[in-house]
Order: sequence, then C-alpha cells, then structure tokens
Amino acid sequence: MSSAKIEDKFNALELARAAALEDAPKPEQVGELVSISYDETADSDEARIATYLFEASLPAYVGWRWAVTVAKVEDSSSATICDVVLLPGVESLLAPEWIAYKDRLLPGDVGPGDIVPTSADDARLVPGYAALPGDEELDLAQHFEFGLGRARVLSITGRDLAAQRWYAGDRGPNNPISQQAPKPCNSCGFFIPIAGSLRSAFGVCANILSPDDARVVSVDHGCGAHSEALVVTD
Ligand code: SF4
Repeated sequence: MSSAKIEDKFNALELARAAALEDAPKPEQVGELVSISYDETADSDEARIATYLFEASLPAYVGWRWAVTVAKVEDSSSATICDVVLLPGVESLLAPEWIAYKDRLLPGDVGPGDIVPTSADDARLVPGYAALPGDEELDLAQHFEFGLGRARVLSITGRDLAAQRWYAGDRGPNNPISQQAPKPCNSCGFFIPIAGSLRSAFGVCANILSPDDARVVSVDHGCGAHSEALVVTD
C-alpha cells in the first residue's frame, strides 16, 4: 500500500521513519510505510499510541517489518518514540514451535550413557503403595502361575536355559548401557517383575523411551531412562 493513502493522525510519519533508520544497519533497509495502527487508552477516546510499520529489507528476515511505536501524552502533545522493533509479517519465515525436550524424545533415542528425565507427575508411574492389584486380579494371577488352563508349563531345565541366555545377553548386566546406567532396573518404576521362580532375577521393561521396552531385563540391567535417573518438577 502506498504511504500516501494511509491516514497519519499523529502526523509522526517522518519521526517514526527516522527512528527506524537509526536502528537499521543500512538506510536502504527501511522501506515503504505498510500501515499505521492506533491504540486507545482508558482515559481518552482519542488514540494515544500508534505503531508505524515499514517494510524491512534485511537478509534472513524476509517479510519482516520495522515496527515503530510512538505515543502522545495528551491529544495536543507532539508524538515521541516508545520503541523500535522488528516484527514478522504474514509471509515471514519463523522458527517452528518449541517442543519440550521430554516431548521430543522417541523410542530408540536412548543410547549408552544417555540420561532421560522423568516428570514427577509422569502418568505412567504411581507411588509404590498405589500399585496393589484388586483381590479378583490377584486370584487370577495365582491360578495362572499354578499352570491351570495350560496343557504344559516350562520345565526346570527349560527355565534355567532361558535364564542363562537372558542374563548373558544384551539385557543382562554385562553391556555398555548397563554399565553406564545411573541405577539398575530393580529400582526403576518401569520395571515389571515377572511371575514365577525367575521373579527375583528378571522383569519386563515398560518404558517406551528405553531401548529395552517390552523386553525381559535382569534386575541388575539398566539404562539412562530409569524412572528416578533425573526427575523434573515442571
Ligand atoms: S531398562 Fe531402563 S527403563 Fe527399563 S526397567 Fe531397566 S532401568 Fe528402567
């Protein structure tokens, strides 16, 4: 829009342009007047504050404008400069919306030596005293552990072979991610002990951010996504 067609109620166009020129690295980086907007104050029907927008020709600031805010103490006063800033226009290239670090993490992001913070109010964790199952659920679990409802159950030989294999594997204690973990799995809120005679040695990881999510881990395994590794309160 041509500046000649924009009504200047404050008669402060040249004052505002001079302020923008003072802030601009080069005079040619202050362009045409784009608009003038007026703000009314509580004690007057007349606007006391106006913002003059000028095109800005700055490298890396495509579509941005110089915004010069001027004010008048009284209707009859001369305008004075309040502020000069650069503001983005509708076509400006802006940074993407900021996303908190904990919300940016994806499964598979945690490697050896990494520490993942857990919120104090993380919905996936509850205090230990709140984790008792109801009576009905407990009864069903006991029935299943006795082998009822299955034709065959694991033999002692089969169990020992599995335990040796799991303990010596990537989810036992002898690997870089465990050795650099802040704490072992048996103190982690995401550790679900398994049923039966292997309960004291193994459990299942239930942390989506851990590389071992949904896998059997030994009690002395560990990773940087341990629930108590780093607790943030926001
Ligand atoms: S592997 Fe990590 S997140 Fe999973 S139970 Fe062990 S310490 Fe917790």
